[in-house]
Amino acid sequence: MHTEIYLDANATSAVHPAAIAAAALAMRDCYGNPSSSHATGLKAKAMLDGVRALARRMLGAGQGRLTFTSGATEGIQTAVLSALCEVRARRARGEATGDLLLYGATEHKAVPESLAHWNALLGTGLELRALPVDADGRHRLDVLRELAPRAAFVCTMAANNESGTISDLAGIEALLRECAPTALWMVDSVQALGKLTLDLAATRIDYAPFSGHKLYAPKGIGMLYVREGAPYTALMMGGGQEAGQRSGTENMSGIAALGAVLAALDDGASFRTHAQLVQMRERLAAALRAALPGIVFNAPFEHSLPTTLNFSVPGLAGKELLDLFDAAGVRVSAGSACSAAKAAPSYVLTAMQLAPWRCAAAVRMSFGPMADDTLIDAACERIARCGAALRASCLIPSAVPAQDSDGVVQLGLDGACTWLVLDAASRTCAIINPLAALAVRIADQVRCQGYRVRAVIDTHGGAGGGRAALVAALGGQLAGGISHEALGWPVLADEATLDNGQVASALMFGTRVLARVAHASGASYLFGERSAAGLAAGDVRFAFTGPDAVIEQLAQLVSRKTIVCPACEAGSLPCTTLMAEGSGAAPAANPLAMQLEAHGLERFFNDHPDALLIDVREAYEHAAADAGHWHGRAVQSVPLSRLADRLSVWLRAEERPLVFFCRSGARSVKAAQCLHRLGYRNAWHVAGGVALGAMLPLAA
Ligand code: PLP
Repeated sequence: MHTEIYLDANATSAVHPAAIAAAALAMRDCYGNPSSSHATGLKAKAMLDGVRALARRMLGAGQGRLTFTSGATEGIQTAVLSALCEVRARRARGEATGDLLLYGATEHKAVPESLAHWNALLGTGLELRALPVDADGRHRLDVLRELAPRAAFVCTMAANNESGTISDLAGIEALLRECAPTALWMVDSVQALGKLTLDLAATRIDYAPFSGHKLYAPKGIGMLYVREGAPYTALMMGGGQEAGQRSGTENMSGIAALGAVLAALDDGASFRTHAQLVQMRERLAAALRAALPGIVFNAPFEHSLPTTLNFSVPGLAGKELLDLFDAAGVRVSAGSACSAAKAAPSYVLTAMQLAPWRCAAAVRMSFGPMADDTLIDAACERIARCGAALRASCLIPSAVPAQDSDGVVQLGLDGACTWLVLDAASRTCAIINPLAALAVRIADQVRCQGYRVRAVIDTHGGAGGGRAALVAALGGQLAGGISHEALGWPVLADEATLDNGQVASALMFGTRVLARVAHASGASYLFGERSAAGLAAGDVRFAFTGPDAVIEQLAQLVSRKTIVCPACEAGSLPCTTLMAEGSGAAPAANPLAMQLEAHGLERFFNDHPDALLIDVREAYEHAAADAGHWHGRAVQSVPLSRLADRLSVWLRAEERPLVFFCRSGARSVKAAQCLHRLGYRNAWHVAGGVALGAMLPLAA
């Protein structure tokens, strides 16, 4: 497997070696409580004061307060609490305050969530209003001019964590000075530290929270700058530490580590200049453009942090790109909140009013200001590898003919299944129950692979317009000149005699046949090896069925081991058999009973020398990963989308142990569960997948 290239610095960063050393020193030698008056305490206090003095200088804090916090979220709470308490006090004194809590539409969620929370808790009853941004992600100053006179508190960020957009703080400041002289102003400066010049006391900014773990310090340490004279209410009361501004014994190892990072930033030796970072971004962008045709960058570089690239690729979901990069050992993030099944569109890009596909498919690549050419070289090389893997799978256009694909492929969305029946010898295929959302992708893939489509068919009516969408997307690639019956079945099909003597309309694919079995409310399709007599039940490898198909109806036509491929996944398993349905097996076997730990694999393979190790990640992920061997064992690739195809072989052969793995364990457990459900008990999966397997001592 590949070594890791970490390009998710906006989420968090590795800890600077000097910071680790400083933290260790603070714990080992300088462990005193800075509030103690003995010598051990005084030493700790001296360290604390030293870091604070350095931080004040680096931020240009002037006479303002600089308090250590647990991170930016705490700093944001404190600023919001302080501002709202001040609004309440001003009102109590009969002074006018605005009625709006104005926050940038692309702020980190910590800001609007804190505003709503404290506004409700304190009963201040102000109106929360999102300040819109333009297509570049910058605050709409025209709207700010309109709203500023009503603002009690304004929250804007210095730079956006998702898009990298740098705010026009000078423009905002000028407007606030002119139109909202008494409004308080917080600038979330998390993404600015180490990347933009800061001179806080020279600005009108009242509150500026920072977070250590975004810049090579550990998690759990942050800072809050408060302008001299700005209202302040402590969030935490107690022993009066931090001059009473933030009680609780200080996180001394975190502070020491942050101090080491600030010292490194100050000496300039290990941090790159802005111009160097811009060059690095250019190199990454060029590699991405070459690997991913059609890529669009979602924020203009001239207004962005040079360390953040946010992009979308037509036809590829953010989750697919994330999985692909992860397989190649490159850690990026889908620029949006992401669940295993589907990604919610990014609210940041949505606020920029980018096209919905860009908001849903966005990927963020971010690096820290300590990046070097070795990292960027390696990243560019891996990006090229990812592009090649996508081309080989025909997920992006390829000039090189793709490898032949043969057999049955499952594509799906939210539990609905589209099935492809591919015949490599004749380079023809049939597509069953196409989903409208997949139409363009299927058409592009079929075109890229040079397959001719013999039929686009449904198992039932009202399947959502997918067939029409696919026929349109295929254009001339659908075998022409043939009229089609209801559900898309070609009129000029051949015939095949089924096991019960019924003569079915059939499409021939070399030695194989796809036969239609009409039901009252739709049709099932049987695919298998034909013989002179027709299609015997024992030779039917697959039965494609609709939601209305009564599986028992097929009992005379297929075998108990025929793979039944439904229009919708049942119990989130991709396929079934009559045997499984008939035995009343539980829908899913206990996942723990089929789980192997990566560190136990070597023993398992010693005990089971005939076991197969199977990567169920998609083919493009397998190609991008350096996954020929894992834990010293040769790896076979059987993507989850090809599981049904391979099952038709496994279920008929002698049972041998199968060990599935994937990125996180989510797909491999599904594969193992499917096999158990179909009566194949010798199927296992590796808990935690490649992600955790690599952490363990036995990893290859
Ligand atoms: N603000 C911004 C812009 C961020 O990127 C983050 C972290 O994701 C936060 C606030 C929250 O920071 P912390 O994790 O230190 O609470």
